[in-house]
Amino acid sequence: MKKKAEKRKIRIAIDGPGGAGKSTVAREVAKRRGFIYVDTGALYRGVGLFAARAGLAMDDADGVVALLPDVRIDFVPDGDRGKMLLCGEDVGDAIRTPEASLYASAVSKIPAVREHLLGLQKEFAEKGGVVMDGRDIGTVIIPDAEFKLFLTASPETRAKRRFLELEQKGTPQPYDEVLADIIKRDREDSEREIAPLRPADDAVVFMNDEYGLEETIVKVLEMIDEAVEKYGREA
Ligand code: C5P
Repeated sequence: MKKKAEKRKIRIAIDGPGGAGKSTVAREVAKRRGFIYVDTGALYRGVGLFAARAGLAMDDADGVVALLPDVRIDFVPDGDRGKMLLCGEDVGDAIRTPEASLYASAVSKIPAVREHLLGLQKEFAEKGGVVMDGRDIGTVIIPDAEFKLFLTASPETRAKRRFLELEQKGTPQPYDEVLADIIKRDREDSEREIAPLRPADDAVVFMNDEYGLEETIVKVLEMIDEAVEKYGREA
């Protein structure tokens, strides 16, 4: 009984670069263990899409800051799915295009944007029973999370996965372009001054180049089950 109650409060942080399978793994883990999944990348993508739709150049930080008061982002949790609403609109696939990815990465460097999205993320973290994935969950949003995972793979492995994914979706992009985008986003995410992408000191770093998706999920579930056990014992 106690274990069940404790499980409801546990906070799981999954960070890592784009294309490592974070979102899919986080969503599956949430589904299989009954946690709420919060996709924080979707929040940055929402701001990026807003900026793109307003016709701003990607590097127009002042323009983005000026728009921020109009950017209303809500996250409606629904188990492993959840919906991100941009000013009330379900922006679904519009935030997943290659252009939206680059805009997301560009706006995420702006301190005022991170500040704008902080409260919402902290709110979900405080509720517990969550799997949150992003770039700074274990370092900034929930530095005292019960379990922190840093999921990564080489840029080439991640590019290959993204390439196949885009092909399957019917929106193919040449491999070289996919790889170049990944390298660009990695650089931007890890070299930015605010909340750079890096594993928290106490994160488990998992390089999953040699693992398929299901194998990765099974491995992560093992780690999480162990963390839940430990948490239950120590509570
Ligand atoms: O995870 P996803 O690829 O959807 O994230 C989109 C972009 O949002 C990333 O490239 C990253 O720049 C930014 N991001 C971030 N902090 C997070 C989540 C995402 O800076 N916690």
